[in-house]
This record gives sequence, C-alpha cells and structure tokens, in this order.
Amino acid sequence: MSTVLTGVAAAPGIAIAKAFLHEEPSFDLHDTKVENVEDELQRFDEALAVSKQELSAIKDETEKKLGPDKAEIFAAHLLVLSDPELVDAVKDQIRTEQFNAAYALNQVATMFINMFENMDNEYMKERASDIYDVKTRVLSHLFGYEATSLATITEETIVVAHDLTPSDTAQMNPEFIKGFATNIGGRTSHSAIMSRSLEIPAVVGTKDITAQIENGMMMIVDGMDGTVILNPTEAEISKYEEKRSEYLKEKEIWQKLVSERTLTADGTHVELAANIGTTKDLEGVIKNGAEGIGLFRTEFLYMGRDQLPSEEEQFEAYKTVLEKMDGKPVVIRTLDIGGDKELPYLDLPEEMNPFLGLRAIRLCLEMPDIFRVQLRALLRASSYGNLKVMFPMIATLEELRQAKALLAEEKDKLIEEGISVSDSIEVGIMVEIPSTAVAADRFVKEVDFFSIGTNDLIQYTLAADRMNERISYLYQPYHPAILRLIKNVIEVAHKGGKWVGMCGEMAGDEVAIPILLGLGLDEFSMSATSILPARSQILNLSKEELGTWVEQLFALDTSEEIEEQVRKHLL
Ligand code: PEP
Ligand code: MG
Repeated sequence: MSTVLTGVAAAPGIAIAKAFLHEEPSFDLHDTKVENVEDELQRFDEALAVSKQELSAIKDETEKKLGPDKAEIFAAHLLVLSDPELVDAVKDQIRTEQFNAAYALNQVATMFINMFENMDNEYMKERASDIYDVKTRVLSHLFGYEATSLATITEETIVVAHDLTPSDTAQMNPEFIKGFATNIGGRTSHSAIMSRSLEIPAVVGTKDITAQIENGMMMIVDGMDGTVILNPTEAEISKYEEKRSEYLKEKEIWQKLVSERTLTADGTHVELAANIGTTKDLEGVIKNGAEGIGLFRTEFLYMGRDQLPSEEEQFEAYKTVLEKMDGKPVVIRTLDIGGDKELPYLDLPEEMNPFLGLRAIRLCLEMPDIFRVQLRALLRASSYGNLKVMFPMIATLEELRQAKALLAEEKDKLIEEGISVSDSIEVGIMVEIPSTAVAADRFVKEVDFFSIGTNDLIQYTLAADRMNERISYLYQPYHPAILRLIKNVIEVAHKGGKWVGMCGEMAGDEVAIPILLGLGLDEFSMSATSILPARSQILNLSKEELGTWVEQLFALDTSEEIEEQVRKHLL
C-alpha cells in the first residue's frame, strides 16, 4: 500500500527514486561543568576554526558550481561564526558558569534562533536557520562526529530530511539527487529557493515524512502539486513517469521561449516582468527571459541588519538592477515596511493592527528623512537605465501628491548639485487598497501607471488577513468583487492613456492569466520561474477573443464558478 503525503510545492518537476534519509546528528547536551575553563575555551576555538575552514571550502566549491550569488549564504554563515555577540556570549558562559562548550553554544544559539523565529517575517526567520546550521556544524566538531555529506551520494536518490540546510543543498549533485522532501519549510525557505535554482524537484513542509519513510524505500516527489508518494504501486509509478515526460517536454518548449517577446495569438504584445527582492534574484530573472522588473521590493535592503542602508548602498543596488536589465523597464517600489515586515532598529511602537497601521508610504511620509535618502538614491541611479518609481499603499491623492513633491524636491537638489538625473522617470502607484481601486479615476491623471497589488488588495477587500491560514478560504483572487476592481482600474487607466501592470501573485496564476488578458492588463509581473510557463500560455491565447469571453464571468456569482468556467474552457 502506498502512502500519499502533501506539502508545499517548492520546485517543479517529478522525481521517482529510492529514498535517502538524511538524519541530523543528535547531540547529548548536559549542563555539566568543566574543570579547566581554559582548555574548554581552547576546544571551542578549535571547533570554530575547523568549522570556518570547512565553510570556506564549501563556499569556494559553491561559487565554482553555482556562482557567487549562491555562495553568499556561506559568507553569511562565516559571519555568524565570527559574530562577537554569539561567540563572546558562549565564552562568557564557559568562563562564568563553567558550562561545557557544547551546552553553552546550544544555549546561546537557541536564544538567538528563538528571537529570529518569533519575528513575523519570512526573511528574518531565515536568519534563524542560518544560526541553526552553524550551531549544528560546530556541535558536530565538539562531539567529534563525522559530518555526513550529501556530496558522497553516487546513486539516484531522493533526499528526505527534517530540513535541509544551505550547506546540505550546496553539496547536492543534481546528477544523482533527483528530488527532495522535508518535514518543514515554505516556498521562501532556503531549501525551497535552492531547489529551484538547482532545478531539483522538491516538496517541503510535509510535516512528518521522516517518521513515515525508511531508507531505500521507493518514493515519488511531485514538485508541481506538492504531493509525495511513499512506496508507490506499479500503476502510480507509470502514471508519474508519464507526467514526468510530459513536464520535460513542456520544459523544452518553454526553454525555446527565453528570448521571445510575449505576443498573444492575435499579435498583441504584453510585458512579462519579474518580481525581485534583492540584486541576487537577477540571475534567475535573466535566465527566465523576463522583459523587465515589475516590482523590486526594496524593503529587503533595509531588513536583516541593525541600521538603515546608506544612500550610497542603495544607489549601488538600484544601479546594479538598472544596468543588468540593460534598458528594459525596472519598476522600483519605495520602502514598504510595516505589516509583516518589521525593522526592529526603527523602534516603532507596537500596533494593534499592523496591516492597517503605519506602513509603507504612510511611514515614509511620517519619517521623510528616511524617505528622502531612498528617493535620492533612486534619482541618482536613474541615469543607468529605464527607471520607474512606484509608491506602495497609496490610499489618498494627498499621499500621492506629498510623495511626488518630495521626489521633485530631491530631484531639484541633485540637479543643483550637478548630479545627472534622468528626465523620463515614470511615477506610478500600487493599487492595493480598495478605495484606490474604486476611485482610480481620481488618481489616473496624476500617475504614469498603476500596478495592481493583489496580495494586499484581496486581503483588504475580503477583510481576510493574508497570513492567517484559518481564513485562507477567503483569499479569493477570482471573487466577483476583485474582478470588478481590477476591471475598473484597467478601464480607467486606459481611458486616461496610462498603462496598468499587476505585481501580486495573481499575475502569474494560470487561471487568472486569461481573465487579465481579456480585461486588457498590459504588464504581468511574477516570480521569475513563472515567466516561461506564462509566456507559453499567452502565445496560445487571443486577446480579442478573451476580451469578449471575459464579460460572461461578470454574470457569475462565486469565485468557484468563475474558476470552473476558466478551467473548463481554457485549461
Ligand atoms: C501586493 O500587495 O500585491 C504586493 C505585490 O506587495 P507585497 O506582496 O510586497 O505586499
Ligand atoms: Mg502589498
């Protein structure tokens, strides 16, 4: 009998192979005291030194195999190893409490891990897994364990683990490691991101696969729909072999579209752009043939650190993106902090409803000194490419006018200082608050473009917190209200001679794409890996036909009926 588990689809593709259970060493940690403190301190220093050597070697190897961007994570691990806050705190505990090094390290590291994990923000949660990874490495040396290396696997296998650390994934050879499945993790965890760049099919967050699997057991990983099958039947194996060859055929077709423009079957061009969080994402953007950047979430420049990024640092980041995109449109969104994205060093008061609180443009207008630094960096970078500036969470025209006034002031200052600034920077807004979508006709005269942020627009329209799994049923992109709002924004923009994009997750969704195309959306911005499948879908759709067809959806009552209608006729 086979067992079917479900998790989060992390990297597309199908793997069928025997399981390799990658277990973490277990450490027997006790608060026993040491007699000789100096010896223990030296033992700890030695374990740190060997760990550093090992990490530098992995970093070099990764740099050679996967490029400098992917190796950066190990530079971060090396920093953790030399971080005085961690290292000195461990040494203090050895000195003052006479704890053994392993116990002291575990205490201190766990304190930091808990602190980062409790932050309501994916990015900071990743810092917790970095510290966890480093802690495990140093503990292994203190206990004298041989580190198990996935690099030694030379048979086709699927790796199963509680979680996979960046050092684990970096050692994977895709020739032999056909897939992996983990207990924990989400779409943005390190393991998921690495699986996509290594193109290894993966399902993460299955909860307890390690408890259900035995080493060597046959298994299937379906990284498209997040299914894992343990001990599959012959019939299941042949079904998935077929699915795998269909996927591989499709992938070959997609690959041919990398340098194509995105044209509908009736010859209209729509722009397929990518969403990025850091300059590191550019590699994937270029590899997947994006026609621009539709959303650069600049808040990531501000996160994971203890002070604001300088104007120079921001300028370098914006310039890099603009230069690498080589004249293609690049929409850079100004700081969207607040909600689930906190900046502890700003020391802002706690709010009852952070998603409805002082976030994004509201915060920037409240703290114009911080905002001005970003605007200057953006303006200075504008001479290096095709920059479009976008303000997030605009709810009123006054906010838009204030933001534009600050931008104009900084531009004048720069020009006075003799610094060159492009004179063709478009300025647009995110439409992610229902009031702005409804009153789009009031905004259209004062912007160059709109970009619909459905991630927030849906949560605000249906009053359903996008982070709360218990009400995820209300997160309905095809809800009649959402489609009406989108339709209104597009109609109003086009009447005013402006273009409209979408940078929420909905833009890359295969059910939404025909609807959005029918409604006339001009730019679709999505995660880089969705671009080629979306392009392949759009090439077969006629914009004119969809323009007529889409009208009938407005006579339907529910999101479910609308989705069914799209699936029945178009997928
Ligand atoms: C959105 O709200 O749709 C959006 C793209 O912004 P974010 O997900 O960063 O809030
Ligand atoms: Mg948003």
